[in-house]
Amino acid sequence: MEVAATVEEMRALRRRFEGSVGLVPTLGFLHEGHLSLVRAARQRDDRVVVSCFVNPTQFGPGEDYERYPHDPERDLSLLRPEGVDAVFLPAKEEIYRDGDATFVEVAGMDDLLEGAHRPGHLRGVATVVAKLLHIVQPHRAYFGQKDAQQLVVVRRMVRDLHLDVEIVARPTVREPDGLAMSSRNVYLSPQEREAALVLSKALRQAEQRFAGGERDGERLRTAMRELIGQEPLAQLDYVSVADVETLQELELVEGAALASLAVRIGRTRLIDNVILQS
Ligand code: AMP
Repeated sequence: MEVAATVEEMRALRRRFEGSVGLVPTLGFLHEGHLSLVRAARQRDDRVVVSCFVNPTQFGPGEDYERYPHDPERDLSLLRPEGVDAVFLPAKEEIYRDGDATFVEVAGMDDLLEGAHRPGHLRGVATVVAKLLHIVQPHRAYFGQKDAQQLVVVRRMVRDLHLDVEIVARPTVREPDGLAMSSRNVYLSPQEREAALVLSKALRQAEQRFAGGERDGERLRTAMRELIGQEPLAQLDYVSVADVETLQELELVEGAALASLAVRIGRTRLIDNVILQS
């Protein structure tokens, strides 16, 4: 497994790779969710590149950029047994240079879900993914359904900019009790960790109601809101039952819907989602 710290080193490694290349972009501090993407890439592609980069532009002012967990040695030791070919571990200055003036923005997403609650977040995501795709030139890039809006934004950017890459989505990996894996789970105290189960519980309840025939978007949202309201340590940012492509809120669920939510547990903001589908 090779490690590239600069754009030049990454490009030199890439030039040597024959066959198909899969890229797994991450912020690092890896867990089983990230490793499921790595394994999916390993199955389909001849070469696997993982990037670990805490991307400053996707964090808003007052968010957790400064304290985001960071342990490259731990990440490398998790990736070595997975048959990864290259890890791209750039410094901030490698990706964002003085005078950078170009950003990628997918219009129409900033009023919705994460876009509405984290100004600039989606622009930061689209910009860094565009940079990574240009540097690594993969045939496929792998993303988790856990960050559903990110996936919608990346797919749209790839389509609109005619990028020659296939975007592969993989299901959310959960702890045995249902909590979606996240690098941010390390922030939670034992009491908060217990309270954080309210996210997956609310989504499971929405799934059950949907399976029982409920198709009214507002009733599904209200039920999730009420369940979150019962947890004293939880503060709701949003609940949503939306169209899976446009992410517009649905009054009536006809085909599939994305049920998603963002909740603060103490100082930690967590997101989760499920697809409702008959
Ligand atoms: P992050 O490091 O949080 O930016 O995540 C990097 C990639 O891993 C993104 O495509 C995420 O959607 C994906 N990911 C994060 N958590 C999970 C999870 N629990 N299950 C599956 N994929 C995940």
